[in-house]
Order: sequence, then structure tokens, then C-alpha cells
Amino acid sequence: IFISLEGPDGAGKSTVAAQLQKKLQEQSTQPVLLTREPGGSKISEQIRQVILDVANQEMDARTEALLYAASRRQHAVEVVAPALAKEQIVLSDRYLDSSIAYQGAGREIGIAAVRQLNLFAVEEILPSLTLYLDLPPALGLKRIQEQRSQAPDRLEQEQLAFHERVYQAYNQLVAEEPQRFVRIDATQELPQVVAACWQAIAQRFFT
Ligand code: C5P
Repeated sequence: IFISLEGPDGAGKSTVAAQLQKKLQEQSTQPVLLTREPGGSKISEQIRQVILDVANQEMDARTEALLYAASRRQHAVEVVAPALAKEQIVLSDRYLDSSIAYQGAGREIGIAAVRQLNLFAVEEILPSLTLYLDLPPALGLKRIQEQRSQAPDRLEQEQLAFHERVYQAYNQLVAEEPQRFVRIDATQELPQVVAACWQAIAQRFFT
């Protein structure tokens, strides 16, 4: 069982992931692997460092997409695939849909090109269920600002357009693959979000 978790910043993804791991572990005698890219793979980590390095702020969009895909592949073959081969349950906080949304739509390389690049990268290592935490971008930004107790600044206003593109892309992906995606309303309180995610998992794998 390979499940991925997708959605914007501020949707509560990592908290939800930790709680889902606990619930999954109660259902399974096998270890449940909660991972997020670069997932502790040394090579993936080093590639990710290049992406995040502040000195690389001017990184070209396609360079960024290629590096994300490279980091993702190494994580997939080194961490995800071996766990699946041992019949462990894998829950990944972000996977290839993040690149399709962020690099494909956010950075405007194109959804089709980034999808193709990432399918090349991960081959058959694909989630069979993707929980999409649906949160409108304005709300996501507001939550992040509240966490940091910041007033909205000019930069974040500019970022809103970027996050709107990401949001539209996620919606398109969900519409294109309704059998893989389950949309979760992330405007709800966290316990309700976790409950809705769990219901989707239980319905798919434990009935
Ligand atoms: O996983 P997390 O929500 O912490 O991701 C933080 C940020 O990393 C995202 O909001 C996004 O700006 C960036 N990101 C990206 N492309 C990806 C994955 C993440 O630009 N493929």
C-alpha cells in the first residue's frame, strides 16, 4: 500500500500525516513508513540542498524541476520501493503531484511536461491513493501568516498568484484521476481532516 498526501502549505499536512501513521500502525502488523522527500536518502538530501540553497534563488525553473525529479527518484528507489517490497505501508508527505503543481503550474513549465519528467523518474513506483488536502490559497497564506504572526507583505501578495496556479493545477489533477485522488476539505478543524482522511483510507484498504 502506497499512499501520498498532497496540498498547499498551511493545510496541516505533516500533522495529519503523523496521526494517520499512528492509525495505520494500529491496523497493520508490518511497519508503517511515514516519509517525505528527500526522506533521509543521502543523495536525495544533497540534491534537495542545492534546490533550497538561498544562493540559488535565481534557479531556472526547468533546472529546479529536474532536480526535484532527481531527488524524488533516488528517494523512490532507495526508500519507497524497498519498503513496498517488504509489504510495508508507505505514507509519503508530498510526491510527484507536488512537482506537477508547483513546477508545472506554479513555475509555468507546463503540467504535461513535468508529469512526463516525473513518470520517467519514478517509473512504476506510484501511489494508489492520494489524499488531497484542499485549502484555498488565500486561506493557506493567512494560516501561515498567523503561525508566524506576520502581517501580509508585498512578497506574499505576489505569491498569491503563484499559489492560485498551484491550486488550479491540483484541481485539474484530481479531476483527471478521480480513482486515485480523494479530496479532503482542509478548511475543517484538524481532527475532522484526520477523520476524513482515515475514512478514505479505511474504505479503500480495510473493508
Ligand atoms: O512540504 P512542504 O509543505 O513543507 O513544502 C514547502 C514548500 O516547498 C512548498 O510550499 C513549495 O513552495 C515548495 N515545493 C516546491 N516544489 C515541490 C515541493 C515543494 O516548490 N515539488
